[in-house]
Amino acid sequence: MARLVMKFGGTSVANVERIRNVARHVKREVDAGADVAVVVSAMSGKTNELVGWCREAAPLHDAREYDAVVASGEQVTSGLLAIVLQDMGIQARSWQGWQIPILTSDAHGSARILGIEGGEIVKRFAERKEVAVVAGFQGVHKETGRISTLGRGGSDTSAVALAAAIGADRCDIYTDVDGVYTTDPRVVPKARRLDRIAFEEMLEMASLGAKVLQVRSVEVAMVHKVPTFVRSSFDDPENPQPGTLICAEEDIMEAQIVTGIAFTRDEAQITLRRIADKPGVAAAIFVPLADANINVDMIIQVVSDDTTTTDMTFTVPTSDYERAMTILEGARETIGYASVAGATDVVKVSAIGIGMRSHAGVAARAFKALADKGVNIRAITTSEIKFSVLIDAAYTELAVRTLHSLYGLDKA
Ligand code: ADP
Ligand code: ASP
Ligand code: MG
Repeated sequence: MARLVMKFGGTSVANVERIRNVARHVKREVDAGADVAVVVSAMSGKTNELVGWCREAAPLHDAREYDAVVASGEQVTSGLLAIVLQDMGIQARSWQGWQIPILTSDAHGSARILGIEGGEIVKRFAERKEVAVVAGFQGVHKETGRISTLGRGGSDTSAVALAAAIGADRCDIYTDVDGVYTTDPRVVPKARRLDRIAFEEMLEMASLGAKVLQVRSVEVAMVHKVPTFVRSSFDDPENPQPGTLICAEEDIMEAQIVTGIAFTRDEAQITLRRIADKPGVAAAIFVPLADANINVDMIIQVVSDDTTTTDMTFTVPTSDYERAMTILEGARETIGYASVAGATDVVKVSAIGIGMRSHAGVAARAFKALADKGVNIRAITTSEIKFSVLIDAAYTELAVRTLHSLYGLDKA
């Protein structure tokens, strides 16, 4: 008998009517004989509102209390879905993270799942065919017993981790699009839905800005080999489409050179000018940033004409930009630079595809195509299955569309 985890995101549970629609999807699987655990997000907009209230209460607040507040959105939707299912004659019970329990690290606000005790849920499948409705996004810190949350978009990770814990045959992530597309369909109408995408590619797509799945959920799916589908909750509950399967590379017949384009505004650029070009400068810049837990991503070093000084350009997460600037200004003496400049109106556009491993010159074509459109590239990084360019945010759509057509991804 099939055992399933079905996850429904914020837009899919935005109001009671939509929750009723979700219940119809659940009923279909229950009627087909499956044991079902459902994971729900908060109603769309709810988590933002809760985060806003925390900031209003105090800009610098206790992360444990932030979690107590923001976890509440999922408590509401899990209870409501259980009520609706019961009303349809289906046995159902809601579960908060601490009740299962979903044990996590103590990194409040972005905790990691350490273990899930799925025994009781499975026992109830066997005893009374009871649907478990699990509040996504939340868990409980193992030692303190305090409520924790998994970072924004974390319900995806709750779902995949639960699927691994209860040995589900499949994890279905229901959202407001009918699968993973070659790029964000809201930005490129010509984006195509993919039938399959490899774990590695999905991991890069998610890390590089495609928010359709939380990065950690893809990691968990990959490590535990959970067959995961992304599909639409707006399909007819009686006749839904399968969506996109995230699967092992071997299960994809014909790998494209480029599978998708992703972009993110979550990076800011910093440039230090005229640094003395001597051993130890890179360490002088990047060690203090690392000590402050700031992740540096793209790095470019340009030696100036006089060859005695160098310019260093790099990117940091937008949320750490102010902090990074303060640290660098404080370290001006030790680093020894002439000036520092920054830009937050930049976007990182990336192309991803496992086919890049075996094809040369893939990125070079992009640089040419972007230059032809007058798009200036501020920084570049490449790795085995992706490359990224940093450009002015004003050119986001132009750049994404240009690369999307360049690699033959536009739908006919
Ligand atoms: P949910 O609330 O269901 O978790 P999200 O808003 O987190 O939904 O994720 C779905 C959204 O992800 C889509 O509406 C779409 O705009 C966006 N998205 C970004 N990149 C992609 C992509 N490559 N394929 C599909 N959707 C994408
Ligand atoms: N409600 C949470 C958020 O908005 C978790 C999720 O939707 O996955 O980030
Ligand atoms: Mg999401």
